[in-house]
Amino acid sequence: MNHADAAEKFNKDFDRTTWHDETLWWVRQKRDRAAFAIPEWEQLRETASQIKHNVLSNLDNYLIEFEKNAQKNGITVHWAADAHEHNQIVLSILKSQGVTEIVKSKSMLTEECHLNPYLTENGVEVIDTDLGERIVQLADEPPSHIVLPCIHWKKEEIGVLFHKHLGTPEGCADPVLLTHAARANLREKFLTRRVAITGVNFAVAETGEFVVCTNEGNADMGAHLADVHIACMGIEKIIPKREHLGVFLRLLTRSATGQPITTYSSHFGKPREGQQMHIVLVDNGRTVQLGREQFRNSLKCIRCGACMNTCPVYRRSGGHSYHNAVAGPIGAILAPNLDMTKNADLPFASTLCGSCSNVCPVKINIHEQLYEWRQVLTKSGHSPTAKTLSMKVMSAVLSNPTVYHLSGKIGRFAMANAPFVVNNSFNPWFKQREMPEPPKESFGEWYKKNRG
Ligand code: SF4
Repeated sequence: MNHADAAEKFNKDFDRTTWHDETLWWVRQKRDRAAFAIPEWEQLRETASQIKHNVLSNLDNYLIEFEKNAQKNGITVHWAADAHEHNQIVLSILKSQGVTEIVKSKSMLTEECHLNPYLTENGVEVIDTDLGERIVQLADEPPSHIVLPCIHWKKEEIGVLFHKHLGTPEGCADPVLLTHAARANLREKFLTRRVAITGVNFAVAETGEFVVCTNEGNADMGAHLADVHIACMGIEKIIPKREHLGVFLRLLTRSATGQPITTYSSHFGKPREGQQMHIVLVDNGRTVQLGREQFRNSLKCIRCGACMNTCPVYRRSGGHSYHNAVAGPIGAILAPNLDMTKNADLPFASTLCGSCSNVCPVKINIHEQLYEWRQVLTKSGHSPTAKTLSMKVMSAVLSNPTVYHLSGKIGRFAMANAPFVVNNSFNPWFKQREMPEPPKESFGEWYKKNRG
C-alpha cells in the first residue's frame, strides 16, 4: 500500500488521527521549551552539524580508527555490507553460543535490517525490552515512530493486549499497573537470557567506546546481565572524539522528547571479565547515500524523531503509512536510497513547509532534499504513471495559450453541465474537498470586458 492509501486508511479513525496529531504536537512543544531554555541552542546545532560534516568527509578514517581502538579494548568488530550480512553475523554469534533466546533493546538499525523476523525464522526467540517496542511486538506490528514506537496505541488497547499476553486484569488500562506488569515479565527474561543486543547512538573513534541512550535502562539491564553483548550500529554513528558527546547528548533528548538529558546515557568501553562484546558496523546503502552529493547530509541524522513530531503529514497519517523502519520526513529521504521503485511515493508525502528542517538538531535540509528526490525520481521514471501522464498533459496545456484558453472553456463547461466528470471518486482531490463553483468566465475574459 502506498503512503496516500495507507494514510487514507489511518484517517478513517478520526479520533485516533486527532489525538495522534495532538500528542505529537505536544511533544514538539515540549521540545521547543527545552530548546529555547538554552541560549546557545543554535550554536549547538551548528556545531553538531559541522562535526557530522567532518565525520562524513572522513568516514573511512574514523571507522578504521574506531575499529583499532575497539579491538584494543577487547571488543570484536564485524563489518556488514548489507542487512542480510548483518543478520547472518548476529545469527552466527548466537549459534556459536548455542543460544536460542535473547533480549534486545531498541535499535532502529535492527528494524531496518528486519533482524527479528530473520532470527525467528531461524529458531531464535527475540524479546524486545523497550516498553513501546514490547507493546508493538506483542501486537505483531512494526514500530510507528523511531522514539515513540507505539504512539498510535491507546492505553485501553494496551490493557486488552496485556490482558491477553501478560495476564493483567481484564479492563485494566492504568499505565502504572500495565508498566509494572511489563516490568515483572521482562525481569525474568533479563535474568535468564545469555545474549543481549543493543543499538548504538554514538561510537567514539578516538576511544573505541560506544554510547547507548535509553529512558528505561533496559539496554543496561540486558547488556550487564548477559554473557554476550552484541551492539549493532550504522556506520554513520561515528563521532571523532569523546568531547563531542557533550554536544550531541545535549541536543538528542531535548529534540526527541523535551527532556534535558536521556535518563540513561551508558558508555560501553570494554567487556567485563568473562563477557564477550561484539559490535557490528553496518553499511546497508549508507555509502551509496554518501556518494549522492545532494542527499549525503541525511547521514547526519541522530534519530531524535523531532522532524516526525513536527510534520503535519506524519502527524495525520501515522508512521506505518511510510512502510519503512524509519518513517516521517527523514525516512522519506533515506528510503528511496534503498529502493527507488518501492519508495518513490514517500518524498511526495510532504507539504515542503520546512518545519522539519527548522527543528532538526543537526541542521539537515530535509525539505530541500525531499524536493530534490521528487525531481530525481520523476526524471528516472519512478513517479506513478498517472502522475507522469497528467504532468505531461499539464505541460502541453500551460505552454500553449490557445490550448490553455480552450481547456479553460471546456473545463468550466464540464464543471457546470457535467460535474460528475470531475466530481467522482476517481478524483483524489474530490474525496476530501468540495469542488468550487465554476466561474462564468475566465479572468482574461473578465479583464478584457472591464479593463480592456
Ligand atoms: S532528520 Fe534531524 S530531526 Fe529528523 S530524526 Fe534525524 S536528527 Fe532528528
